Amino acid sequence: MKVVLATHNPHKVEEFQQIVSVARPDLEIVAYDGPEQIEDGVTFTDNALLKARTAAAHTGLPAVADDSGICVDVLGGSPGVFSAYWAGQRKDPVANLELLLDQLRDIADPHRTAHFTSAIALVAPDGAEHVVIGEWPGRLAHAPSGDGGFGYDPIFIPDGQPAGAERTVGQLTEEEKQTQSHRARAFAQLVPLLEAL
Ligand code: IMP
Repeated sequence: MKVVLATHNPHKVEEFQQIVSVARPDLEIVAYDGPEQIEDGVTFTDNALLKARTAAAHTGLPAVADDSGICVDVLGGSPGVFSAYWAGQRKDPVANLELLLDQLRDIADPHRTAHFTSAIALVAPDGAEHVVIGEWPGRLAHAPSGDGGFGYDPIFIPDGQPAGAERTVGQLTEEEKQTQSHRARAFAQLVPLLEAL
């Protein structure tokens, strides 16, 4: 079965293809190349639905779209839906994480808690809509480490690692990220919905 993935972010297409190839090898993920949807929603759910509706309408295929970001507790959940352009509309990932580190410069570890969130919307050709949400809890590092992944990966330390040997997502292997991430957690909830299509 073909499912169109409504994202113009090549990192996400790659991550999804890898997650899907393990979880559902029978699904063919097709990249969406239609008109780009302005992400003017104010929640991850709103934006994921906006993107999936546009791709479903344009292609006539079941469409999946993810909207994601990092939510820092001491900032009241920001950057949140503004994660991609926290340091400005030029969407510079290094400037984004440097601004976030600067804002939290004097904040001690116990107050640096954060989570990645991924909302994945599925819009079927008959108009049926579903949204699933995955969260990956952790905390912000004091400086970037590792060059894997993208975005805020070099400054996010996921929970549940052995004390003294903690790594940022930028230091995890691709496989470790793909089995633990917010997107993987959301996708696990999506599988039964795709099966029911
Ligand atoms: P979106 O493409 O509108 O969903 O924006 C997502 C933004 O959130 C990205 O540009 C990154 O800044 C951040 N983000 C989302 N998922 C991840 C991830 O897995 N690692 C690092 N940053 C992420």
